Amino acid sequence: MLIVQKYGGTSVGDLERIENVARRVARTKDEGNDLIVVVSAMSGETNKLIEYAHHFSKNPSPREMDLLLSAGERVTSALLAIALKEMGYDAIALTGRQAGIVTDDVHTSARIENIHTETMQNHVGAGRIVVVAGFQGITDKGDVSTLGRGGSDLSAVAIAGAMDADLCEIYTDVDGVYTTDPRIERRAQKIDRISYDEMLEFASMGAKVLQNRSVELAKKLNVNLVTRSSFNDNEGTLITKEENIMEQPIVSGVALDKNQARITLRNIKDEPGIAAKIFSKLADENINVDMIIQNVGQDGTANIGFTVPENELEHAKRVVEEVDDTAVIEYESNIAKVSLVGVGMKSHSGVAGTAFSALAKENINIEMISTSEIKISMIVSEKYGELAVRILHEAYGLDNRS
Ligand code: ADP
Ligand code: ASP
Ligand code: MG
Repeated sequence: MLIVQKYGGTSVGDLERIENVARRVARTKDEGNDLIVVVSAMSGETNKLIEYAHHFSKNPSPREMDLLLSAGERVTSALLAIALKEMGYDAIALTGRQAGIVTDDVHTSARIENIHTETMQNHVGAGRIVVVAGFQGITDKGDVSTLGRGGSDLSAVAIAGAMDADLCEIYTDVDGVYTTDPRIERRAQKIDRISYDEMLEFASMGAKVLQNRSVELAKKLNVNLVTRSSFNDNEGTLITKEENIMEQPIVSGVALDKNQARITLRNIKDEPGIAAKIFSKLADENINVDMIIQNVGQDGTANIGFTVPENELEHAKRVVEEVDDTAVIEYESNIAKVSLVGVGMKSHSGVAGTAFSALAKENINIEMISTSEIKISMIVSEKYGELAVRILHEAYGLDNRS
């Protein structure tokens, strides 16, 4: 079998843990498998590098940011290959560029366009363990690019797809995908199997156990994706096609995203085209707008509110200020998005009602709502985010009662 294993930041968080990873990799190799290992930077490393840049600039240039941020993964990939060689295994570390990963030039959230697999193929063919620095690639101009936060998951899935691997294992610090973040609700239960679509919504709504774009790509390329812990041998969670899942609960899980911010534009002209102008400008700047509400104000004016990721707020501010300089603009970053995800919602009614009542009973105000076929999201004050997760987790019977 050809297996792609990805080890996240905590799993390579210090030298001892890298040694632990080396032993796991060696074991997989000893079992007779071909192996490509993708690693993240040591946990906290990418944040530290971002802070360094912010010491010099509030708005550092994305090209240089990418060169900087790619460093963390280079360190761990080289160290893991060194450790494996010392254990007597033939291993080679590759940067994203050396692994043939070509991306577009949207620095700090680049998309993979192509993977030239020859180098990896040659090394695997020669029996070598290939260790790839995750989260990075190269633009066709030859600049280093990175794939967005959590992007090593995407590196792993893309490599698994391009190399036609039998399995892609994402090793992290939890046993798999849970009904909610086990750090928020200790009664959360592990999910044995989850569909690509559900996992995609779950990840997009803040369940950071998998990066959302990696799930999207896994679905597209039909990659067999498993998440599990690098600290034990428990069975993980299989992310698979919907038809491979027997029983579908109405709500599969609850996600929390605290990294949201809201922009409200008041007193904008209530005329056709104004929303188009604002949102196409934001789209041109690659800003991810999520929830939008518009309501009628006074004297032919309207108010528009929408959410963006908190780390894109500064950028979004500059854009909206340019589009309409007469509007009164307000910003709020102490908000959180709580989401219920479940394919069973397609065929059941009343799901939203249960959520609204459960939160109302605890006096939690819902500030914005949006729904899709398999998801309901609500914006609440950030300080109630975790409480809201626990309330909803219980309201839908997801708590582990054993
Ligand atoms: P890595 O560094 O290995 O990529 P991450 O920190 O990105 O790990 O993702 C793992 C974390 O995701 C867990 O420690 C957990 O707190 C969090 N998490 C959020 N939602 C979920 C969920 N539904 N199931 C499992 N883990 C979750
Ligand atoms: N090191 C990067 C991050 O922290 C990528 C990753 O860990 O997947 O976002
Ligand atoms: Mg991650």
